[in-house]
Parts: sequence; structure tokens; C-alpha cells
Amino acid sequence: MAQIIDGKAVSAAIKEELKGKAAQLKQEGIQICLAVIQVGDDPASSVYVGNKKKACAYIGIDSLSYELPEETTQDELINLIEELNGKEEVSGILVQLPLPAHIDEDKIIRAIDPGKDVDGFHPQSVGALCIGQPRFVSCTPAGIIQLLKRSGIEIAGKECVVVGRSNIVGKPMALLLLRENGTVTIAHSKTKNLQEVTKRADILIVAVGRPKMITREYVKEGAVVIDVGIHRNENNKLCGDVDYDDVAPICSAITPVPGGVGPMTIAMLMHNCVEALTKR
Ligand code: NDP
Repeated sequence: MAQIIDGKAVSAAIKEELKGKAAQLKQEGIQICLAVIQVGDDPASSVYVGNKKKACAYIGIDSLSYELPEETTQDELINLIEELNGKEEVSGILVQLPLPAHIDEDKIIRAIDPGKDVDGFHPQSVGALCIGQPRFVSCTPAGIIQLLKRSGIEIAGKECVVVGRSNIVGKPMALLLLRENGTVTIAHSKTKNLQEVTKRADILIVAVGRPKMITREYVKEGAVVIDVGIHRNENNKLCGDVDYDDVAPICSAITPVPGGVGPMTIAMLMHNCVEALTKR
């Protein structure tokens, strides 16, 4: 029977630890503050932003909220970011993605002071991860490392296969597994014989953005399977990139959707906020 990796429980434990750290910093006269910027009123983004603000309040982090209209120009957004970069009391800046099509996301990410880049998307953060220096790490992959470690799953020496090579999940995930001494393969849409590649994995991380694509034909018996995907199925229920019912019986551990990787992303964002002052 597969171990079900409980992201809700791990994320709750991390948030408790962070609450203690934030209280300690407050006693030392240091108040953490996250600035959250949303452009437009995409309903999914509003839910994510609301959850992030709630998590801040729970941990004891101040949050400043900037809800800008859809027609905000790129220059106006960059001006706001520069203003926040200069504010001593702002420890972290988060711009909720995606942005409206007329704004260049790369330019916006680059405008954020790397010392306040709590999403870990700035090229300096990514470069630091690449050469093994401590900077902000993208929250979802960082959360997956925590899930593995806190579930007692050894990474060192294991065959790790990451399916997906996006800048926010696949690539940083592969770099983090490498940092933990895994033997890492990255697969993507041009990979030949994907099943052969994924079947080598002791630890299989799936971030393809395709509902239930990974069935047991892709998985080695006894593997650990981490499902990053989030989708709504035809019955409006959440499901992942992995066909959970098909795969769970043959693996040693698996993350469910919901309740696996999802809750870890906000927990690690909070972690990055609490750590922000050490990244200046
Ligand atoms: P992207 O769409 O940016 O990347 C998907 C990756 O999967 C690409 O590298 C693509 O390859 C690869 N891919 C697509 N189809 C195939 C295929 N048939 N075979 C092999 N590889 C394939 O997605 P993200 O990384 O942003 O997100 C992935 C999933 O994770 C989504 O479902 C998203 O909603 C979810 N997500 C969940 C989060 C959470 O908090 N739980 C956070 C972020 C994302 P190529 O590069 O060649 O096109």
C-alpha cells in the first residue's frame, strides 16, 4: 500500500514553525512585510492572492495589497515595483502571474529587487540556484523537496526523473534534486520513449499540465510519485497530471491532488518571506 504524502500536514507544520520565527523577529523589532500586486481581476488569481494574504495574517507577516486595473501600463507597474524596492519596510514583493498580455512578464520579474524576490523567479535567483548559492528558490519545487525530506524519502543517489521543464517548476525542480545529490533526468514534450525514461525513476516528479497523463505504464513498481498538476475534471473535481487511482497501487509513495503539492507552494512563499531579510 502506497504511503500517501500529506501536503496539508507538512505545510501546516512549516507554517507553525514560521509563526514562531516571525514572532521571534517581532520581539527583536523586525516586522516582515509582503507587498502583493495583482493586475486585473482574473478570478483564479484573486483566489491565489486572497490565500497568500490569509497565510501572511496567520503567520504574523504584514501584507500590502495593490489591486491595479487591467489597463495598467507596463511603465506604471514598473514604477510601483521600483517604489516598493526602495521601501525599507517592504521585505518581499510578489507580482501575481499571469499578467495581462500587454505587459512583458520577464521585464516585470527583472524589475523586482532580487533581495525581495520571494517568488524566486528573478534571473539572479535562478542563477544562484544553478551555482548552488543561497538565494530565493521557486516555491513549488522548494515545497516538493520539503515534502520528500519530511516524509523520510531519501534523495541522494536516487534516479530522479522530472517531466516538464518550465522555468517555475521543472527546471528549478531538477536543480534542487541535483543539489540533494539525486541523479537527475529532465523529460519534456520532445523526449523520445517517455515511458522508458520515466520507468527508470525511483522518484518521478510530474509537471506536464495534462490531466491524468501519467498512468501505471509510466511508473516503475515501488517508485515515489509527486504530482504537481492541478486541473478540474469533467465533474468539476480537482485532479492532477497523474492518474492517481491507476498509479497509487504500484508505487511506494504518492502525493494526492488536492492535498499534496498544492498546499506546499504557499507554505514555501511564507518561508521565503520570513527568510527575506537574510537575502539582502
Ligand atoms: P508548463 O505548461 O509551463 O510546462 C509544461 C511542461 O510539460 C513543458 O516543459 C512541456 O514540454 C512538458 N510537456 C507537455 N506535454 C508533454 C508530454 N506529452 N510529454 C512530455 N512532456 C510534456 O507548466 P508548469 O510547469 O507551469 O505547470 C505544470 C503543471 O503544474 C500544471 O498543471 C500547473 O497547473 C501545475 N502547477 C501547480 C502548482 C502548485 O502549486 N501545485 C504550481 C505551478 C504549476 P515543452 O517544454 O517541450 O513544451
